[in-house]
Amino acid sequence: MSSGFINTIRTLSPTMKYILVTGGVISGVGKGVIASSFGTLLNCCGIDVTSIKIDPYINIDAGTFSPYEHGEVYVLDDGGEVDLDLGNYERFLDISLCRDNNITTGKIYKQVIEKERRGDYLGKTVQVVPHITDAIQEWVEKVAQRPVKGDKKPQVCIVELGGTIGDIEGMPFVEAFRQFQFRVKRENFCVAHVSLVPMPRATGEPKTKPTQSSVRELRGLGLSPDLIVCRSERPIGIEVKDKISNFCHVAPEQVICIPDLSSIYHVPLQMESNGVLNFLKERLQLDFVDPKQTMQSWRELAYRVDNTRGEVKISLVGKYTKLEDSYASVSKSLQHAALAAGFKLSLKFIEACHLERDFKKENQLLYYQAWQELCDSNGVVVPGGFGSRGMEGKIRACQWCRENKKPFLGICLGMQAAVIEFARNIIGFEGANTTEIDPNVAHPLVIDMPEHHPGIMGGTMRLGKRTTVFKDNCTSTIKKLYGSPKSVDERHRHRYEINPKYVPQLEEAGLKFVGTDEEATRMEIVELKDHPYYVGVQYHPEYLSRPLKPSPPFMGLILASVGKLKGYLNKGCRLSPKEMSDNSSDEEVVAISKPNKQLTNGTHKHCSNGATSSSNDEYEK
Ligand code: GLN
Repeated sequence: MSSGFINTIRTLSPTMKYILVTGGVISGVGKGVIASSFGTLLNCCGIDVTSIKIDPYINIDAGTFSPYEHGEVYVLDDGGEVDLDLGNYERFLDISLCRDNNITTGKIYKQVIEKERRGDYLGKTVQVVPHITDAIQEWVEKVAQRPVKGDKKPQVCIVELGGTIGDIEGMPFVEAFRQFQFRVKRENFCVAHVSLVPMPRATGEPKTKPTQSSVRELRGLGLSPDLIVCRSERPIGIEVKDKISNFCHVAPEQVICIPDLSSIYHVPLQMESNGVLNFLKERLQLDFVDPKQTMQSWRELAYRVDNTRGEVKISLVGKYTKLEDSYASVSKSLQHAALAAGFKLSLKFIEACHLERDFKKENQLLYYQAWQELCDSNGVVVPGGFGSRGMEGKIRACQWCRENKKPFLGICLGMQAAVIEFARNIIGFEGANTTEIDPNVAHPLVIDMPEHHPGIMGGTMRLGKRTTVFKDNCTSTIKKLYGSPKSVDERHRHRYEINPKYVPQLEEAGLKFVGTDEEATRMEIVELKDHPYYVGVQYHPEYLSRPLKPSPPFMGLILASVGKLKGYLNKGCRLSPKEMSDNSSDEEVVAISKPNKQLTNGTHKHCSNGATSSSNDEYEK
């Protein structure tokens, strides 16, 4: 955001409605999913929704985060590296957010300090109240207006405040919203407080005290909850709901109970059946269309999650496998595709270094377990990553998939690993490698891009949405999966690329580069001939997959893994419900994965965003 934007605020829409979602008791109770579900429900009523995630930490963005600490770094169209919660919003609401939709304390302070340095405060003492709190309010008001789907201005903005009420870091934000409620007027602002109702085994009954205390704390800071969303392990009874209503001074219909559910797709439905829409309609004076029809697709999705029978086993060979959130978008994309194909996803995380020859000496049991899991799977993903740890294991996984005709999808580093493996074992470039791991390697199959200035913090990655152009007249599975467009736009996050010098040799040997950047110098998609599905993409398709619009490369992997890819492609990217092995009785052939129109281009479009990155997860070796 340009630091001078505070001065340039135009007349703002008086009708923008805000739902602030706060958390009580503990974090990690699914506040992000609840907040996204508010959006889904409103979307189903024909309302355009945007969202802002506030992370009260000091970091400017998530670019420097270790995936072990925070889960994956989520990348946006504009190259913003943000908290993975933004992914929930994009997926649930099918929208595209920008870096300013993620606010951190660091971003706010940076802006205020820059203003102070420019002398914009005219010699005044610059303080948390009013300067930081003003900057927060203005940022929220400004970003809320930005279109997130087409060019229509959103009508409702969901603001999720990270952490829990009472956290010292969150205080300026709470104070900003205390003021904000008066600035935008009551009918345009409401608060949903997501709390936990624990059920300790010792007592065997739900306990409301923690919720009471956190609501009291919220009120003490000047914000009153309009809705109290109670998260619990099991459903809680009416008497508990009444108790919370009594002790927290809200009407019973303002207490929403969301127990653990079989899938996140049930959350919007459960909230709807708790009367959330009616409440919001009145409280925010919203005009709705009846959501019955539009909610049907969510209902079907939730039903499908619970009722698919066939299983597809996918192995993810990665480096941060101890925290599954490190691969949140990849897992979600696999789930979207599996569901669309009518299969239950069984996803196994394999620690890449456990597949390495040297590791066998260290721990035979884990070595054989990892290989058994790999051999047992129907398909394999090697996702993105940084640094040397596990690289040889990833390369071995690629080799195994290539030689055994196992469906394979390599993403970013995964694609680089596949190309290195091919060069080593098919062309005979022993020791071929990426300069990321060995800067002086004899056969540098993967090299630094000009964007990469080692040692300089910033401007060191190619980030965000870029165009990939399919080569003319190429027969490509992946192109067909996308619906045969001329080009596709996908998001990137990398510093290294395939060395163009080796491309003719690799192609000659059967590894085809079917998609490049617009200048045809950067290799974006690689496909192996005479293999059921062996695809590598330099971009990250996982960031644009949606529950109802699965990402084509993932769709290809899943379908190939269950032996249905050919039929699907022959029918123009369609499968009959029968083929999908689900419970549907409809005999007609139905489209299950229309190529995401947002992703495909009819023309070659230049896409530059000047995105930069200050660092990356290679800190986590
Ligand atoms: N480390 C590799 C690069 O920078 C791959 C990055 C990734 O997988 N996101 O090019």
